[in-house]
Order: sequence, then C-alpha cells, then structure tokens
Amino acid sequence: MKLHTLEQNQLEALYKNIEETTQNFLGYPVSKDFDYSDLLPFLKFPLNNLGDPFGESTYRVDSRAMEREVVHFFAEQFRADPDNFWGYVTNGGSEGNLYGLYLARELYPKGMVYFSEATHYSVQKNITLLNMDFVKVRAQENGELDYQDLREAIGYNRHRPVIVIANIGTTMTEAKDNPARIASIIQDMAISGHYIHADAALAGGFAPFIDPRPIFDFQDGVDSISVSGHKFIGSPMPSGVVIVKKDNRDRIARNIAYIGSADATITGSRNGHSPLFLWYAIKKLGVEGFTQRTRHSLAVAAYTLKKLQTLGIDAWRNPNAITVVFPAPPVAIIDKWQLATENGQSHIICMPNVSFDQIDLLIQDLKETMIIPA
Ligand SMILES: *Cc1c(COP(=O)(O)O)cnc(C)c1O
Repeated sequence: MKLHTLEQNQLEALYKNIEETTQNFLGYPVSKDFDYSDLLPFLKFPLNNLGDPFGESTYRVDSRAMEREVVHFFAEQFRADPDNFWGYVTNGGSEGNLYGLYLARELYPKGMVYFSEATHYSVQKNITLLNMDFVKVRAQENGELDYQDLREAIGYNRHRPVIVIANIGTTMTEAKDNPARIASIIQDMAISGHYIHADAALAGGFAPFIDPRPIFDFQDGVDSISVSGHKFIGSPMPSGVVIVKKDNRDRIARNIAYIGSADATITGSRNGHSPLFLWYAIKKLGVEGFTQRTRHSLAVAAYTLKKLQTLGIDAWRNPNAITVVFPAPPVAIIDKWQLATENGQSHIICMPNVSFDQIDLLIQDLKETMIIPA
C-alpha cells in the first residue's frame, strides 16, 4: 500500500515546516544537535520495555539491558548509593515527577507536599492526580524557593510528614532550590518522616558536569531525581529518567503474573526505543562529551548576558544557569525566535546547539527594533 499524492504532499509540507521552525529556536530547552541515524534499523521492531527494567520479563523484544545502563549512568552522576538505587526510563520529566510523588505518598500517606510557586505545572497536576494535600510556598525574586516561608508552612503542619519538591532549575529562570538547606530546615523542626524529590528536568542533564558542582543530588539529601532525556541530551521523542532509592521502591512494587515482572512503573507498555536513544547518546558523549556541552552552554549564556546588557537591556541569569532572563522584547522578536514569555519576562535557553553566531543574529534583530525613528 502506498500513500496517495495528496497525503504524500502533506507529509512533505510537514517536513518542510518542521525543518524551518527548528531553525530559530532559542526559547525552549530542547537540544537538536543529534544524529541517531545508526538506530534507524531499530524502527522495524516493536520494542516494549514492559515492567521492571531490573527484573525478569517474558516479553523479550525490548531494550531493557540498555535501559539498565542508562539508569546506572544517571545514578552514578547523581551520586546515588551504588547498593541502593533503582530507576527507569520515563516518557519525560513530568512522569518522573509523578513517580517521585507516588513513591513519597506510598511511604507517607499522611504527608503534606510543599513546593514553590515557580514549580513546573506538572507537579500541581500530579499532586491532584494522587489526591495529596499541598502547600504552595513563595519563591524569591530569582525563582528560588523562599526558605523562611517554607519553614513557616512546615511549622503550621508539624504533625505531618514533609514531602518537598526541590526545583533543580525552574522552568522560567532556572533557579535551583537547595536540598541540603531544605533538609536542615526539616531536621531543625524535628519532623518525623520526610521525602525530598528533585525536579531536575533540564539542569539534571548538566548539573553533574558544572564546576563547582551545584547542590542537588542524593548526597545532598534528595530521595529521588527526575530528569528529561529530550532536553539537554536531545532525542527525537520525549523521554526522561527517574532515579529513586531501591529500598523505597521495593516497598511499593507488586508482582504481576501476566507480564512475568514487577509492575513497578507508571505505565504498562513502555517505549523501548527511547532507552536505546539515550544509551546511544551517553555512550557517544561520555562524561567528556557532557562536560564539553556543559561548558559550551555556560559560555554562550555568559556571552548572551553580556551582549544584552551592552544594549542596555536589563538582563540577568542565576549562577551557572544556561537560561538568560530579560524583559519581554517586541512581539516580532518573540515570534521569530520562539522565546517563551511569562509575566513580561522572556528567556533564552543556551542549549548545546545554540551558537555564538545565532546570539549575534538575535542581538542584531534586537538592535534594529530598538532604533526609534526621529
Ligand atoms: C520541562 C520541565 C518539566 C517537564 O518535563 P517533560 O519532560 O516535558 O515532561 C518539569 N519540570 C521542569 C522544571 C521542566 O523544565
């Protein structure tokens, strides 16, 4: 069977359109500098990583061996206890947040969830799905959680276990909440039972490779971390990785006879291709490659900030962030460069594929709109 000419034309038009729209793309955290053509032959197979990547399964058309390596890699980068971690490849950062919250709720059914107002919308949605109680805490000017406000909020609910979502890079300003500081507040208040989940959708892809290393991981007091695969690494389809403590997840997994595996994940059928893509990227890049990508992004961010400031634009960025924030420019610029804009603020995210030349072009555009005719 072949497509009719009409549909063939539709496909070609879509291809052209996508090719064009990916050109000027500075506002969203998606890397596009990848080449996975070696993996094309795998599109012939119905890969499905049903069940627990670390357990047995009777369905074997899968990439679970690669998935385990991906989980290993991130567990190591996030400094998880080598004898006490577990995880899987998700459909994205949002699913990782859902899994972290689900685990927290199973461990602490009476827990209260705290997160800042700068938190990604997936957290609020997931809390609603899980029917958990929550308190939204204030964020500081730079997007980081307001610790004093957190302390007070916990104080009102002293009798309940504490579940905190720490943002390791907020969506709008890439602010990092400090899990060590959060843990010490909880300890100070003598709370019995707590759980800290790190939402590191974007920054989890490069935080381990920044020097000095940011405070964000298992050694800093978190119990689980969610990272997106299609953001800093880049992948044709959305994906992510969630890493948790194995003893926590062992308390909630159930064995399902039909699939011959533990039903330990959120969805039943799971994408078997995305672990393969992540595995491929990790093997090709290695720690060296990740470090280089990180350095490039940080350098472009520093350059962007300087250029904007030179134009007299009130731009800023959080320490070691690849996101540069500035007052929203004219709509034509927002449209052309696809700049995410919220409450009068726009941002440029200096993903690894963003070049100095591209920034120069944007700066040129900004300069032209700033010339006011006499
Ligand atoms: C992008 C993002 C998410 C959601 O991740 P998806 O991979 O799109 O599901 C969650 N939190 C933050 C901070 C994000 O930037």
